[in-house]
Amino acid sequence: MISKRALSIDSSGIRKVFALAASIDNPINLSIGQPDFFVPELIKDQAIAAIRENRNGYTQTNGLLELRQHLASSYPGLAERGEDIFISSGVSGGLFLAYAALLDPGDEVLVPDPYFCMYRDLALLLNAQPVYYDTYPDFRPTLAQLEASYSSRTKLLVLNSPGNPTGYVYSPEELDEILEWAKKKDIWVISDEIYSSFSYDDLFASAWGKYDKLILLDGFSKSHGCTGWRVGWAVGPKNVIEQMLKIQQYTFVCAPAPLQAGLVCDISEQLQLIREQYRAKRDLLVEGLKSHYQFVKPGGAFYLFPEVPAGDGASFVARCIENKLLVVPGNVFSRRDTHFRISFAASDETLQRGVEVLRKLV
Ligand code: PMP
Repeated sequence: MISKRALSIDSSGIRKVFALAASIDNPINLSIGQPDFFVPELIKDQAIAAIRENRNGYTQTNGLLELRQHLASSYPGLAERGEDIFISSGVSGGLFLAYAALLDPGDEVLVPDPYFCMYRDLALLLNAQPVYYDTYPDFRPTLAQLEASYSSRTKLLVLNSPGNPTGYVYSPEELDEILEWAKKKDIWVISDEIYSSFSYDDLFASAWGKYDKLILLDGFSKSHGCTGWRVGWAVGPKNVIEQMLKIQQYTFVCAPAPLQAGLVCDISEQLQLIREQYRAKRDLLVEGLKSHYQFVKPGGAFYLFPEVPAGDGASFVARCIENKLLVVPGNVFSRRDTHFRISFAASDETLQRGVEVLRKLV
């Protein structure tokens, strides 16, 4: 009865751990990548005003003009490069549309391992083949790993910096080197930059403007604390954006109109503050765990991906859950099950409680 397509994927492992939170009294929830701050008041006010002004209908498929113009100012020379920008239903929506516009059955997609699960499952849903480039142990992507995973069927390379679940941030030189390689192979690149405003040690380097066959995806979910609003954007060559929009017409239609209106707002000062707060959370976790666990200090996003002290990720996480601590086993993000993911998008008090449990469990 159920399609092979649907049966080819499993439901999200992160959601499964998150669902456990409901059954545990006062859990220490470090499982989900959901910011712990609220949407800035000005943006809430603008969205509420838009609802009251009856701006509740569909927008154009490509989104509200004011929001597109506001975002386009971050990509100077967009039109001259033959590129376009549109508003998607979050980065998830952008990923689906980019995959659907670029991939035929049997095409191979190079996915980093560890990876954000959607990169794998969307490929499977579309009868394309995820092929992993292994980035262990330091999560730095290298040309040797990419070359080892490349074949004549490779159509697309997925990049994600700052990365989920590792927090790894590519240096500008690494990015240049990878994009140069992609150009030589003449393959498409998706750069998922949803954590672009969470880079703690170095200025974030975007892939945009460095390669012609590139789709950049970014969104408001993490930076603005509005994961439930479902608003993101995609930038890329006009001919691909056109195809993505055609598919958007028949799937998401458009992102929520009043919420798009709410997001036409410059909050760079708040983003700076949030970055400082999250850098301090990263440091709290790193300092609290460095003498007990092996890990690469994350330069961005809000995750730490330590090695499990013994056994596999799933059994270690089971022990964490017995102690009311919710973290996610590494096999949700990887073919290996040697690590676990801690999200530090949580209050300092929750983080302290988590550190205590984790130190006790070694
Ligand atoms: N990409 C990455 C790397 C993510 O971690 C997430 C959310 N966890 C998404 C995309 C999806 O974000 P959105 O809410 O914009 O769909």
